[in-house]
Amino acid sequence: MAGDQSHERVLAIDAQPRMLASLQALAASRALPLDTADSLSEARSMLAGGHHGVVLLDPRFPDGDGLALLRELRDGHRDVDVVVFTADPSSQAPVQALRHGASDFLRKPCSPEELLVTVQNTLERRDLSRRNREISNRLRRSERLYQYIVDSSPDLIYVLDDEGRFTFVNDTIQRLLGYQPQMLLGRHFSQIITRADRALAQCCFNERRTGDRATRGLELRLQPARGGHPVYVDLNAMGMYGDGDGEAAGRFLGTYGVARDVTERKHAEAIIRHQAHHDMLTGLPNRVLFQDRLRQTLAQARRAQASAAVLFLDLDRFKMVNDSLGHSFGDRLLENVARRLRDCLREGDTLARMGGDEFTILLPKLEREDSAARVAEKCVNALEPAFTLDEQEIYLGVSIGIAVYPQHGETMETLVKHADAAMYHAKATEATHFAFYDTNMGSRLDHYLSMETGLRRALGNNELSVVYQPQVNASDGQTTCLEALLRWQHPERGAIAPMDFIPVAEQTGLIVPISLWLLSEACRECLTLGPPGNPPRLAVNLSSLQVEQPDFVDGVVDVLNTTGFPPERLEFEITEHLLLRNTEVVVDKLRDLSGRGITFAIDDFGTGYSSLSYLQRLPIHTLKIDQSFIQGLQNSGDEATLVQTIVAMARGLGLAVVAEGVETTEQMRALQSMDCHTMQGYLFSFPQPASALADPGRPGEGAPAPSATRVNAGSRQ
Ligand code: C2E
Ligand code: MG
Ligand code: MG
Repeated sequence: MAGDQSHERVLAIDAQPRMLASLQALAASRALPLDTADSLSEARSMLAGGHHGVVLLDPRFPDGDGLALLRELRDGHRDVDVVVFTADPSSQAPVQALRHGASDFLRKPCSPEELLVTVQNTLERRDLSRRNREISNRLRRSERLYQYIVDSSPDLIYVLDDEGRFTFVNDTIQRLLGYQPQMLLGRHFSQIITRADRALAQCCFNERRTGDRATRGLELRLQPARGGHPVYVDLNAMGMYGDGDGEAAGRFLGTYGVARDVTERKHAEAIIRHQAHHDMLTGLPNRVLFQDRLRQTLAQARRAQASAAVLFLDLDRFKMVNDSLGHSFGDRLLENVARRLRDCLREGDTLARMGGDEFTILLPKLEREDSAARVAEKCVNALEPAFTLDEQEIYLGVSIGIAVYPQHGETMETLVKHADAAMYHAKATEATHFAFYDTNMGSRLDHYLSMETGLRRALGNNELSVVYQPQVNASDGQTTCLEALLRWQHPERGAIAPMDFIPVAEQTGLIVPISLWLLSEACRECLTLGPPGNPPRLAVNLSSLQVEQPDFVDGVVDVLNTTGFPPERLEFEITEHLLLRNTEVVVDKLRDLSGRGITFAIDDFGTGYSSLSYLQRLPIHTLKIDQSFIQGLQNSGDEATLVQTIVAMARGLGLAVVAEGVETTEQMRALQSMDCHTMQGYLFSFPQPASALADPGRPGEGAPAPSATRVNAGSRQ
């Protein structure tokens, strides 16, 4: 340490005690730590202690040669300075002494003063060289330390000369980009920068050349030695300028900088950005990205006076699949739907998932309205074939609403709202799968709210009524059963189809009082219908919500008691969907009613997705084959085999079979050939009010155009 005094001692070795005594007295007066030895043996043992840095030696001893001691010290690499101090008059004496390792030589007699000055000088020199050693050790250590710090830094540290060539780069370059640091020395920095960022980097470098501003937080992409993905770095660099007053003063010498690897952060940012704009399940753009693209599209369309279209898609039946087969099944189904839809679009179109089973499509640069209709048609056709998942065949279908810029709306919000309203309209119109917006179409919410208010009023206002559709034995024309179907005659909107209002009734819970009313109305009206000896049975549809009511059984029993309708003439139609929910509770209730003589039919059989084990566990009496299979009978192929299988299975289980939706004599004949004789459909009768059934002369419901779609009424939710 600088300023530190050496604590080395001095040992004077001389055979003359007098000499030693006078030296000691002098040293004491100068505070010089001096020890003495008057024999070589004593000197050796004192030196063994290692406390002496300077030895004052007169080599002439009676017990031996002092120069031998000098050699020992030299050969033992002892860090001791020996000043030979002798009365030997020979001219060889100093040379000999120095050759044996002495550091200085004095000839006796000399003044003690001179002797002490020599000793003190020796001590000071030793001290100086010790400090020098310490300093250079420290320097070496700290240089090594800095080198270590620089090389093990996770950051890239470099120095460039005034032309931008590397003069130093730390080892990190190897880990980061696969270059040996030596390889880069003398090379221009642009070699490690991706082509795309070179101009930017050069520009920053030039700025340092002319000004002393530092570069902070510049993001650059570096190119690894062997190619591959670029490495993102965050760069901080400083210019270096000559100092002092000389020629080089203020001259630009180059730059040094630190570049931090931020690749992981960039990836994380990219993922977060992607997640914020995409739907996790399908990987499609989400609502945010869709709106963003729509905003851009509209801005461009406005400038170019061009057209664009927004399509709003809502899957039919998805909710049912999701509820009955579980969310993970539903998720996989949505992935498949997204894939099919994507294939319907061109590059530049955007397909987005808005949530649930709702998708939107943006068609920028629309040439004609027709093109939007064609895309919608393509989507409808793409989703029509069954989806096969876990060996289950699922038919979905889709309803699409289209709003075109600028005629159906000029802002983003109105276009989406109007496409949604048109979609809702398409969903409510049985034979239509897509519709363009029309100013008469209310929004989905308007529609729902007016439907809800209307329904609440309908019961008290006698707007609801019951119609009956016979199930006929095709062999003899006998009506075996009448299915009660609900009708709503809206004071302003006219007849509203059950598939349009029953879902609203279910969502609002109004289905419960309405169903109870229908049951008692139907029981009352049917009590007197048909030939007295062989009156037809009565079939009534049940909704899940109704069965889930705790007092469901009591309500039914109460109606039977009040109306006096015989329970064995009553059949409830349930769907497979209902059986999938609350199974145990439902089973108990159905068994209870079955014990009272009521029978059960599975409605729309073949469209549910459950296993058929319930057919043995439940008191099921009848299978009603869904009308979609009957309508497919003409086409030959799968449907015929399927109907045949259902009939054979029903026979095996001792169940009755009814074919729904029979419209043509060909269908009737085909069914008869399959040993299915009970049928229901427009071929035999439209649904009619009780009064028309009692008096066959009176007309029933007009014949609606038979739908050719596979989507069953009441199931497009
Ligand atoms: P569903 O129980 O399967 O009723 C048969 C539907 O098929 C009826 O439609 C009927 O009019 C129609 N249909 C009958 N024959 C033919 C035919 O030959 N061709 C075609 N294309 N269709 C035919 P509707 O009356 O519109 O009822 C639709 C659905 O609404 C019913 O399907 C049922 O699920 C539900 N629904 C009707 N009334 C009630 C009710 O009182 N309660 C409950 N919970 N649901 C009801
Ligand atoms: Mg039915
Ligand atoms: Mg049915």
